[in-house]
Amino acid sequence: MQHSPASENTPNTAEIQQIVDSVYEKYKNVDDGEVATYIPELGKADPSHFGICLATVEGHIIKAGDWDKEFTIQSMCKPFAFQMALERWGREKVLKHVGVEPSGDAFNSIELDAKNTRPFNPMINAGAIAVSSLIKQEPVEAGVQHFLTTMSKAAGRELKIDQDVLNSETLTGNRNRAIAYLMRNFGIIDEQVNESLHQYFAQCSVLVTCQDVALMAATMANMGMNPLTGERVFDFQFIKYVLTVMFTCGLYDYAGGWAYEVGLPAKSGVGGGIFGVVNRQLGISVYSPKLDAQGNSVRGILACKELAGHFGLHAFEFTNVGSSFMQWLL
Ligand code: GLU
Repeated sequence: MQHSPASENTPNTAEIQQIVDSVYEKYKNVDDGEVATYIPELGKADPSHFGICLATVEGHIIKAGDWDKEFTIQSMCKPFAFQMALERWGREKVLKHVGVEPSGDAFNSIELDAKNTRPFNPMINAGAIAVSSLIKQEPVEAGVQHFLTTMSKAAGRELKIDQDVLNSETLTGNRNRAIAYLMRNFGIIDEQVNESLHQYFAQCSVLVTCQDVALMAATMANMGMNPLTGERVFDFQFIKYVLTVMFTCGLYDYAGGWAYEVGLPAKSGVGGGIFGVVNRQLGISVYSPKLDAQGNSVRGILACKELAGHFGLHAFEFTNVGSSFMQWLL
């Protein structure tokens, strides 16, 4: 890894910008994959969109392409909802409702961990719906609003819900309803099944940009404090547990391959977003709606791999001694 000598006080963001721009240029014409249509409204996404954003814990933001286009957060809401459940109920109670084991099955599979009769982990739909059941409030819109307000603080701007996507998923989400009723049958979620589902669908329908998600990731990397606003958003004592589950279960059926190749706690969503957290250093976010067979953004995977390689971000990179990205800013 070569980069130019440090200048006295000016952060070396120009060099980082160049690298991010070159990654954008390299992959912007890759046209593989399909936009998700099983939630019909998602099918309206513009397949050409491709945005990248890096946000450091120091508050530097580096972005390229369609970093300001809005899309729905989808499953990228799951780590944040898990964090909120841990903050509200503590680890012991949350573990009774959702495990922390990779499932090896599809994100929307209708099954539970037979040994413990609970969902395998909070990154698959069953686990995320169990988590939504734990963070919902009475009335249900209060819980949705709490989620939205917390995510807005993490993004550093006021976020909204895409009502069309929410309606579309509510109308067609029968598989998630089946998962929820299976869990109700085993007493994992309470009798307010529709409320838990509404909380979950609304969480997935939050509209974000690449920059919003990079800042959310940077807030996690920064021990729960938004690096731009300085506001404390998340209780840092739980972040390590959330990052661990992201590391092992965040990328659908590619979770193992991702941990091996990219080596970052991360989460993807069927809207085409992927974000990664480099602990104590930065958040990375990529958006492009065409998905591969595992449900991950094709350009998103390519861009993340390339960026992690360039900057030496893999958790077990031998040069990564907790400051590998920071040296680019010196
Ligand atoms: N709302 C989507 C669903 O439950 C989220 C799926 C995802 O992004 O993985 O099907």
